Amino acid sequence: MAPVDAILPLALIRDRVTTDLILSGLDASGVAFALFSPDDELSYGSTAFKALFDVQADAQTFADIMRHCHAASVGPRMAAPIEDFLAMAQARRRSSPQRTFEIDMHDDRWFLVNETLLPGNWLWHVFTDITLLKSNERVLQLARDAAQLAADTDPLTGLLNRRAAMERLDVEMQVAFHDCTQLSLVLVDLDHFKAINDRYGHAKGDDVLRHFAASGRQQLRGSDIFARIGGEEFLVLMPGTGINEAASAAERLRQHISRVETAAGLGCAYTMSAGVAEYCGNAMEDLFQRADRALYRAKHLGRDRIEQAD
Ligand code: GH3
Ligand code: MG
Ligand code: MG
Repeated sequence: MAPVDAILPLALIRDRVTTDLILSGLDASGVAFALFSPDDELSYGSTAFKALFDVQADAQTFADIMRHCHAASVGPRMAAPIEDFLAMAQARRRSSPQRTFEIDMHDDRWFLVNETLLPGNWLWHVFTDITLLKSNERVLQLARDAAQLAADTDPLTGLLNRRAAMERLDVEMQVAFHDCTQLSLVLVDLDHFKAINDRYGHAKGDDVLRHFAASGRQQLRGSDIFARIGGEEFLVLMPGTGINEAASAAERLRQHISRVETAAGLGCAYTMSAGVAEYCGNAMEDLFQRADRALYRAKHLGRDRIEQAD
């Protein structure tokens, strides 16, 4: 059996060889990793890390590396001025035994940074390229946005549909209630629409619906919520607007669509009737009923007119 003092150096040599192999293996695998001393000096950085952060020969500390990245617009993007960034990073580094966060690079790649606090305040960083994951995430987000838009949109006119309009109405009523602001609802129904279909055909009827939607978009304010809630029925929700102002806006739209140029361009004339009501703190049904009753009166009084709720 070999004496103890002959075994120890051999074990140490084996440890050293193993450690070097692990380091060179990690380096050759292309993984970016770095070890920072308690004073934030770069003690070891893999080849991939040095490339990622464009580590200069004279760079000694984390701050040196980041200052160079900032000045040369390489490595990670930093939104804040460099000194603010360093102060923020300083506060976060070593703030917990393990941290993960994402960084985006000037070359549009994304990395997940895994930061581990080692005994004695040494810091170990591993960087994983997550560019593909992020782009899949972005594609999924775009698909989700598109699906949401389709679910909220009336395909014929591109306006909000009834369901989306009711959601917006609910939100706007809560805002008006809490902020004590005005909110008006205009219900619009195109006049004798059945006769337009009968006389000019369904396709022309569709043209009229699209024309009305385009006219409303053009005439109403950007803050107004404009939706198609039925066949030839529309709703305009006007946040921050009292009943008189809302009725004037509806009147402007009425006059716009009844211009002779409209009829000439479209190949047929059409008119609208509308009922206007102002939110007074009651339930949604009450606001709708009052606007609907005013609309009914507009129809009853001969159509092509705007009536205000009592
Ligand atoms: P009033 O002035 O009383 O509102 O008469 P109106 O003819 O407009 O009312 P009515 O409710 O009798 O008819 C509405 C018509 O709208 C009937 C329906 O065929 C037509 N309509 C509903 N949706 C569409 C659509 O998407 N395209 C077309 N072209 N017509 C539609
Ligand atoms: Mg109708
Ligand atoms: Mg109608």
